[in-house]
Amino acid sequence: MKLLKDRILNDGKSLAGGILKVDNFINHQMDPVLMKSIAVEFVRRFADLPINKIITIEASGIAPAIMLGYLLELPVVFVKKAQPKTMGDMYVSQVHSFTKNRTYDICVSKEFLFPEDKVLFVDDFLANGNAAFGILELIQQSGASLLGMGFIIEKSFQEGGKRLRELSGIRIESLARIKFLEVDTVGFEED
Ligand code: 5GP
Repeated sequence: MKLLKDRILNDGKSLAGGILKVDNFINHQMDPVLMKSIAVEFVRRFADLPINKIITIEASGIAPAIMLGYLLELPVVFVKKAQPKTMGDMYVSQVHSFTKNRTYDICVSKEFLFPEDKVLFVDDFLANGNAAFGILELIQQSGASLLGMGFIIEKSFQEGGKRLRELSGIRIESLARIKFLEVDTVGFEED
């Protein structure tokens, strides 16, 4: 997606350790116009699938997911990274974060995921794929089907994309695929 890649080149900052900082348009300050274009592109890539629900994970997945849910007129469920005291029955799985170097529980209430659901997962980044596999585990616990996974940015020099594309029956799409990331240099995969 050219608009997104141009924005990453203009406003993204590559940090040591293969981290891309996009705090001024995705992860802290958000650009709703770009976010709308991102959602339109997700519609183009997924609208042929019989999805009835969008799932994401707090916090940075919520913006693209709600835009997409608005366009497709589908409910959006965000998975939580901490178990609220008020939540009753829930599905729980674990995610290891390399950026934060810790493992944490993620959860979703049993009230919002059912065996008949056909789900699309949306998130900001795909790196090693641990968050995505944690989500897949929650969806499997509920008996729902995961039909697709859409990421704004994939760092294809990490393993997540390869691991996810080995799964059968799940469409994986990333709007900008970063091949290499060095301090002050970003290189994209050919589309
Ligand atoms: P994964 O579970 O695929 O290893 O990592 C995905 C999560 O880690 C994303 O939801 C995002 O929050 C965070 N993450 C991974 N790499 C980056 C990065 O380069 N920049 C930012 N801003 N977040 C990242």
